[in-house]
Amino acid sequence: MINATLRELSVALAAKRISAVELATLFLDRIQRLNPALNAFITVDRDKTLEMARAADVRLAAGDAGPLTGIPLAYKDIFCTEGWLTTCGSKMLSNFVSPYDAHVVERFKSAGMVTLGKCNMDEFAMGSSNETSFYGPVKNPWNTDRVPGGSSGGSAAAIAARLAPAATGTDTGGSIRQPAALSGLTGLKPTYGVVSRYGMIAFASSLDQAGPMAKSVEDCALLLNAMAGFDSRDSTSLERPAQDYAHDLEQPLRGLRIGLPKEFFGDGMEPGVRAAVEAALAEYRKLGASTVEISLPSSGLSVPAYYVIAPAEASSNLSRFDGVRYGYRAPEYVDLADMYRKSRAQGFGEEVKRRILIGTYVLSHGYYDAYYLQAQKIRRLIANDFVEAFKHCDIIAGPTAPGTAFEFGAKSNDPVQMYLSDIYTIPANLAGLPGMSLPCGFDAGKLPIGLQLIGNYFDEARMLNVAHRYQQVTDWHAQMPKGSA
Ligand code: GLN
Repeated sequence: MINATLRELSVALAAKRISAVELATLFLDRIQRLNPALNAFITVDRDKTLEMARAADVRLAAGDAGPLTGIPLAYKDIFCTEGWLTTCGSKMLSNFVSPYDAHVVERFKSAGMVTLGKCNMDEFAMGSSNETSFYGPVKNPWNTDRVPGGSSGGSAAAIAARLAPAATGTDTGGSIRQPAALSGLTGLKPTYGVVSRYGMIAFASSLDQAGPMAKSVEDCALLLNAMAGFDSRDSTSLERPAQDYAHDLEQPLRGLRIGLPKEFFGDGMEPGVRAAVEAALAEYRKLGASTVEISLPSSGLSVPAYYVIAPAEASSNLSRFDGVRYGYRAPEYVDLADMYRKSRAQGFGEEVKRRILIGTYVLSHGYYDAYYLQAQKIRRLIANDFVEAFKHCDIIAGPTAPGTAFEFGAKSNDPVQMYLSDIYTIPANLAGLPGMSLPCGFDAGKLPIGLQLIGNYFDEARMLNVAHRYQQVTDWHAQMPKGSA
């Protein structure tokens, strides 16, 4: 059962081979046994989970079940979950029990999914290694001396170690795709606006997008079916006809043109990553696709533009954490201003403070034109590059991350090195395009490697189809870390 796909779990539940309570118990027991060494979960609440599982069993018995009813799901701790602690990996929210559910959580609950717990993450989703969490680092199940990637590192480790069949993540600059790559999983960031951000604690609102993380492409498609859809509570949510993302998975790839950005295949990629990505492209050619070289000339400016825009938005979004309405408040202070200062100084970690400082700086009078406006112009150029590229190809492929899972501490003292982990993922966020990562091999140290696909706007179904066909002829995605049996 722990290696089963969501479709297999659904069939087993419908056939009464297992109940939702038994399934939830199986994963809760694994969490109890394996999580202490991994630190993938911040909150687990057995009683609440089992109560939801019992409700799912009632629906299953009554013939009122959908394809996801009774299947356990873990949430990145950035999603507000009614009655559950929702920390966003921060001391600032270490006492915050959400009074409401995020849109995504509402959707999964009405589909009958069973909440398994809340996953560890980089503080306020700022990081690529899960080392910035107030709750401590998460270990990579493939090698516990290594990071799982970030910021959705807890979600990634939970699935890789089979503590959960699937989880949610969020991707502002790569936080679904990069941990998926480093932990041997499949993860998808939808087109900006496809999934409502309501109830997702805001980092950089013009970039944040929620998406599924799971073992396979098909699992991601089924989860996206539940997550996607219009929500009037998010002003950037898009109204589009409902779509079944799992419908076209089997389409043949004959005639597909895969664009390879020459900027993604230069120096900077580890040789093991390059070899695995090249081998995946060879596999695609066997499936009938052709590859064409394309260029994204402005993509080299993605990381600097992102590190102006994302901190600018973060500094504004995080101004709400003032110790007054909710969240952490310093125990001692002399007056109101002192209370603000101390609460924020004590409640936020180093990386979050660094971003607030950068963001406040680039938005301040005198620097706004030089930095923020300039970054916005670069963002437009990057988006235009993709528009041009998609005239010559149907989908773009390349590495997800320049390297495999690195050791704890390897990059935490050098923010720029850490920021470069997202060099291949950030362009899709800046352009608002859908992207995904799927396992395409291992390096010499048996660490997973991710292949990135970037689709055109709203072309998730095509991207999933392209990814699924690859998983039908390879088994990288089906492999499991040794220590997790
Ligand atoms: N690693 C990037 C950052 O630290 C992206 C994070 C994300 O996608 N949430 O900002």
